[in-house]
Amino acid sequence: MLDEENIVDPSHPRYDSLMIRKKIADAGVKGMLADSAMIAHGRGEAYDYLLGEKTTPSAMEATKEAVARLIKAESPVISLNGNAIALAGSDFLTLASQLGCPVEINIFYRTPERMGALIGHLKLLNSKLGLDVEILGGIPDERIPGLEGPRGACQSNGIFSADTILVPLEDGDRCEALVAMGKEVLVIDLNPLSRSSRNCTVGIVDEVSRVAKNMIQMMPEKPAPTKWNNAKGLQAALDQIIDNITNKFS
Ligand code: ATP
Ligand code: MG
Repeated sequence: MLDEENIVDPSHPRYDSLMIRKKIADAGVKGMLADSAMIAHGRGEAYDYLLGEKTTPSAMEATKEAVARLIKAESPVISLNGNAIALAGSDFLTLASQLGCPVEINIFYRTPERMGALIGHLKLLNSKLGLDVEILGGIPDERIPGLEGPRGACQSNGIFSADTILVPLEDGDRCEALVAMGKEVLVIDLNPLSRSSRNCTVGIVDEVSRVAKNMIQMMPEKPAPTKWNNAKGLQAALDQIIDNITNKFS
């Protein structure tokens, strides 16, 4: 394992960010991630820096809207990729158990080794938490129309038949394909300009581990869905960035 823990003091101003980065590095060592995982993480980190590394009021609103739609859904599913599992695997299992829904592993660069490592890790977390959340993705038997190759693979009793999907850190192509299937697609992505953010039903512009924790806390409140305007939420995130960087050095 990498040893940032020993060299970074908790009083370091970048401690939280460095510890989140360490989770990605450690998961990479365990064979859970593709080589490009740290690059995708870095893009998220850069946006988080500009957003102020905290949940903005508009992100909290979007999180609440996503929770409301997950509660209202008939067959919700939480789709998980390697980074989401590395950063918030326990919290997404807890949320899935609150919702009574499965999680489905769906990764861009699918190999039997990576799938095995991710399924094994989630099973371990399930038993540590005393939960029995159904973990799908290991035996794909359906395809997302319009997506070629292994990333289009999914399960008929999971993503394929779900009416509402929470997709943290989604690839833009897959997000578009899921929306085209008529599903409600709830995205967590720190980049308000990504195709995922722009094409989804509700975009939450916030860091994935903060969002998962916020969602767990909101569940008992049972929020109700509203008429959500995704473009407005994304613009609020951009406005926050502009506000944070305007007149910094004048
Ligand atoms: P798109 O295909 O949607 O246009 P992209 O190709 O730029 O986006 P990907 O590399 O496919 O993006 O997916 C990674 C996305 O996840 C990035 O948009 C990045 O901002 C976001 N991201 C990375 N780490 C985190 C994190 N910890 N929390 C939230 N979002 C994150
Ligand atoms: Mg992409």
